[in-house]
Amino acid sequence: LPPEHADMMEAHELIAKFYNHLLMNTNEGSIALEYLLNRGFTEESIQKFQIGYSLPSWDFSLKFLEKRGFHTELLEKAGLVAVRDKDNSHFDRFRDRIMFPLLNSQGRIVGFSARSLTKENQPKYLNTPETEIFNKSSLLYNYYNARSKIRKQGYAILFEGFADVISADSAGVHNGVAVMGTSLTEQHIHLLKRLTDSILLCFDSDSAGAEAAYRSGTMLVKKGLTVTVAMLPSKMDPDDYIMKFGAEKFREDVIGNPQTWMAYKLIYFRNGKNLQNEGDKLEYINQAMKEIGELDNPVERDIYLRQLSEEFSLSLTALSEQLQQIRETIPKQKPKEKELVIQPEPSVTKS
Ligand code: ATP
Ligand code: MN
Ligand code: MN
Ligand code: MN
Repeated sequence: LPPEHADMMEAHELIAKFYNHLLMNTNEGSIALEYLLNRGFTEESIQKFQIGYSLPSWDFSLKFLEKRGFHTELLEKAGLVAVRDKDNSHFDRFRDRIMFPLLNSQGRIVGFSARSLTKENQPKYLNTPETEIFNKSSLLYNYYNARSKIRKQGYAILFEGFADVISADSAGVHNGVAVMGTSLTEQHIHLLKRLTDSILLCFDSDSAGAEAAYRSGTMLVKKGLTVTVAMLPSKMDPDDYIMKFGAEKFREDVIGNPQTWMAYKLIYFRNGKNLQNEGDKLEYINQAMKEIGELDNPVERDIYLRQLSEEFSLSLTALSEQLQQIRETIPKQKPKEKELVIQPEPSVTKS
């Protein structure tokens, strides 16, 4: 670890401790604390996730850290302070916000996501910019704390928002992680694969969440992971659900009762379609047939084909024929990575 990076992390850790103190023990932090408690955050999870509060001052954090020996340039490089265009002077990036520390895979604080307390103070979440120590496409929120649970339970839960991770954790679900407002990347998948081959997606139940679940699931399946998808009532996110229905119902009805990836895709394709309408119906059937055609397992293909045939009163013979045609256009499946490993070494041919 380059000494400069260690210093940047240390600066984050020092100020995070102070932000947490401001939130928990001071008058200045009382409105923020009240906001969090009202939202259903517990004191226990505030401490566990080292949540804090930054003052509405332009230079409190800057002065606090300078006094402890950190150079302004280093704090700027770390993203904790920003520079004014007009006179190159420095100011605190995070002001009057709830501070969520972001830990890297080694458990060191490398950034913050800072939530505003009001609709007037935009954006809702302000994140540390890309720095030498913080790269949002390779950081999973709560990865460090969840890793042993993920290994033990045999799967990871991927949430859309880190607030959902925290709520789920206090509802007894400790194997959750979240991306930081980006789409899922290869690097995220690589991190997950170090721990498990099985991912449960638990995204917001709105159109953005459904799209994100479809895109993420597709990527994960392509990388050889097994994907299931938790379902929530319309327009809710996991955090809302836990607040409304409680921890037990969340664990049992949502986390404990996911859809298979195939079933999710069928639900996803039906979204926004009117199946009474011929055009929509045909489009859905074609999408479904394409997915069925890509299933490796003939029994699974049969199950979904029969479902389709029954649901739309279509002859099984016609569907089977179409499936045959679809499968002929699919390029022969490449052997999976695992199978590649056991292939015999190519024998050396003498010339
Ligand atoms: P809350 O419950 O506090 O409103 P949320 O987790 O439900 O938050 P969403 O609006 O569902 O937030 O967004 C999911 C994730 O997307 C957030 O955790 C955050 O990482 C990211 N995000 C949302 N809005 C913004 C924003 N304005 N700027 C940066 N990132 C954002
Ligand atoms: Mn959302
Ligand atoms: Mn949400
Ligand atoms: Mn939310």
